[in-house]
Amino acid sequence: MLTAFLVWASADVGSNIYLKTLCRAKTTERVVALTFDDGPNEVTTPRVLDVLKRYGVQATFFVVGQSAEQYPEIVQRIVSEGHTVANHTYSHKALFPLSSAQSVKEELQRCNDAIASITGQSVNLFRPPFGVTNPIIARVVKAMGLQAIGWSIRSLDTLSGRSREQICRRICNRLHPGAIILLHDRCKDAEILLEMLMIQLSQRGYRVVSVSELLNIRRYED
Ligand SMILES: [Zn+2]
Repeated sequence: MLTAFLVWASADVGSNIYLKTLCRAKTTERVVALTFDDGPNEVTTPRVLDVLKRYGVQATFFVVGQSAEQYPEIVQRIVSEGHTVANHTYSHKALFPLSSAQSVKEELQRCNDAIASITGQSVNLFRPPFGVTNPIIARVVKAMGLQAIGWSIRSLDTLSGRSREQICRRICNRLHPGAIILLHDRCKDAEILLEMLMIQLSQRGYRVVSVSELLNIRRYED
């Protein structure tokens, strides 16, 4: 029952039934934004940061507040290297989509507070766990002045049994101007996938921009 709900609601991340979620920019320019969810991870996030640094591109990290508290030095590194740290709730609870308004608010506020206390910066962007929104989440997100960010290309990098090549191919087959690509820095070999993807993007004439830059394009699709 819950699984069915999550599958249904996840499939609807771009449909904006409840919440104005930015999932792609409407542009003909070959630009994409890279987003990494569920970190920071002690081992894999620094490796991802190394690759991003080598290519000189900025990404957005939707961090889990309690992991951010655990690895504040990684969060500081993300920010000091020009990337964006954004809200992915405090504890990424499986039942988050079924939470009361009070606990949704607590999950979002605690994550914002954790990030702010480490970086000294306020948080503007939020991605709901599992991509699931509902009227309660929508109300809280709006009241907190956060912008919800979805994705237009789901890499499925967390599913087992897929090679990095297969995942990279999946992303490239779906590539389009203004795409927001969903990745997970917590995945083993996340940096290898990223390296492959950077090569493919450059071969296809795509430039990586931050989610904020995509937002500035303004003409994003509703
Ligand atoms: Zn997540």
